[in-house]
Amino acid sequence: MDIKPGFCCLGITDKCMLKCQMCYKWQDKEAQNYPTVEQYKKFLSELRELVDEGFRINFGGGEALLFEGVLDLVRFSVDKGFSANIASNGWLINEQMAQRIADSGLNEINLSLDSIDESTHDYLRGVKGVYRRVMSAIEYLNKYSKNTRIGVCCVIYDYNLDGLLPLIDWAVNNDKLSSISFMAPMQPNNTGVEKEWWEGKYNFLWPKDTDKACRFIDKVLELKKIHSKIGIPVVQLEAFKHYFRCPDKFVKKTKCNLDRAVHVSAVGDIFLCFRWDRLGNIKNGDDIRELWQSGRANDVRKNIGNCKDNCHFLLNCFFESDYPFALV
Ligand code: SF4
Ligand code: SF4
Repeated sequence: MDIKPGFCCLGITDKCMLKCQMCYKWQDKEAQNYPTVEQYKKFLSELRELVDEGFRINFGGGEALLFEGVLDLVRFSVDKGFSANIASNGWLINEQMAQRIADSGLNEINLSLDSIDESTHDYLRGVKGVYRRVMSAIEYLNKYSKNTRIGVCCVIYDYNLDGLLPLIDWAVNNDKLSSISFMAPMQPNNTGVEKEWWEGKYNFLWPKDTDKACRFIDKVLELKKIHSKIGIPVVQLEAFKHYFRCPDKFVKKTKCNLDRAVHVSAVGDIFLCFRWDRLGNIKNGDDIRELWQSGRANDVRKNIGNCKDNCHFLLNCFFESDYPFALV
């Protein structure tokens, strides 16, 4: 087996304190049986043998900082030679948390920020005050975490579209930030799969004016030439344009590349892609080195090869060029 993992995300908790318009994870109140920190460490040690130095571990959620041992796992990952990234909504990052994050050696944190307008961000994230928490998180992280790159990540919705250029302007001129990135809108988390969701009850998220959304992407492509902080690759932005124009047409010319991904759910289930069979569970001590090469993984890879879904994982999490030379 010469395929190596290219992406790993540990969705370390499903808990969250926000009530975002685009995510219903917060409605799920069921107690879950999460893996222990030691079980995660075993998994990370085994994964490390499959990948090169600097391979990135993404800690996501829910709100990843709600998982008690997440910074212990960040420290463990960094000491093992991984690069560690946390996606956070910023709510919990007060002075003390920023100090703990600095001590963990975290390489990068991506804070959700959908607008530089306070009421727009608070509306989209469903809780008043979250914008101010993100702003103070940036200050505290910058004060303590000198080696942690701080980025903001924004989802392109109909509601915030008009305010996205001011957000870029603010971010590229903010010396506390290393990057600004974007994601395409998706059907809300924790809702049953709906075909053509952008036309159904969630279409309030979808940019109504396709030309306007594409003009915005063109502007980002232009700004990217002069601002290195706009980190999102050209090919991914081009794919967003295809997606806005024809959301039901697969954005890739070849196949989905998530056959090289490793996802672990909050309860420890290991997947290549959540759409297909799980490979094992880290609470059972399953070894990713064996799972990666298993017949089940190869069966899942066949399904992935035939899947034509413009999903969040493909467009937003691990987008790769179809071409031999990646455009950056
Ligand atoms: S999108 Fe993120 S921050 Fe918002 S409710 Fe879902 S998990 Fe929480
Ligand atoms: S395109 Fe299909 S196989 Fe690929 S990540 Fe999305 S749902 Fe999974």
